[in-house]
Amino acid sequence: MKVLVAVKRVIDYNVKIRVKQDNSGVEKENVKMSMNPFDEIAVEEAIRLKEKNIVDEVVIVSIGMESVQETIRSALAMGADRGILVKTDIELEPLSVAKILKHFVEKEKSNITILGKQAIDDDYNQTGQILAGLLNYPQATFASKVVKQDNTMLVTREIDGGLETLKINLPCIITTDLRLNEPRYASLPNIMKAKSKPLDTIELKELNLDLTNRLEILEVKAPPERGGSVKMLDNHGDLIDVLKNKEGIL
Ligand code: AMP
Repeated sequence: MKVLVAVKRVIDYNVKIRVKQDNSGVEKENVKMSMNPFDEIAVEEAIRLKEKNIVDEVVIVSIGMESVQETIRSALAMGADRGILVKTDIELEPLSVAKILKHFVEKEKSNITILGKQAIDDDYNQTGQILAGLLNYPQATFASKVVKQDNTMLVTREIDGGLETLKINLPCIITTDLRLNEPRYASLPNIMKAKSKPLDTIELKELNLDLTNRLEILEVKAPPERGGSVKMLDNHGDLIDVLKNKEGIL
């Protein structure tokens, strides 16, 4: 059994995002980049499946610029076995990413494919669902627990009303939610070991896929600055006065 994990390199979640002067997007030059946090959870879950002897191999796929190699190496240092970098400088929309991932799910004959529920840069929350649709595979999104039972996966999902457990057949698509697990830190020896793990690079154009964009970003704007100043109060009595008079409360 094989798990394929899709990871995206995004602006680190601690970085304060700056919008470009021409409102065409956000500033990515000289900004710290990291693995999308939901994808780290996906990598961790895949490694746990391997540690439980449910799968034999964990393969990482990432689409992006040459620098994405670093992100794939981080996943290898966590414990994944091998990586595939699909190299392109083009910004891709979820349908295009899903078409590329479909190619690798089929080529690798992946039994379980895990994605993050969303990439924190564009916040689309679409790729896993589109991928399942293109492949006609069962999907379980927003997973907070994943258990293998016979030839099926029991996936507990976080939904508005609480939790829902689905039983899905393999091969399948799973997307991760925040509470699924806590990703491990890579140890120094594993970081060193990861340097010699296999990492194949493929140029996107070699795949010959129709990746015509259907979305057009018209404008990117920063959210309005929060108004009002912070007022420090001495005691809870003052707080009650403020609340009663709604003084200083916007
Ligand atoms: P999105 O639909 O863009 O919010 O992304 C959902 C998930 O799709 C991410 O958490 C990743 O697992 C996967 N994904 C999106 N973009 C890429 C990419 N460029 N390379 C690899 N995986 C991606």
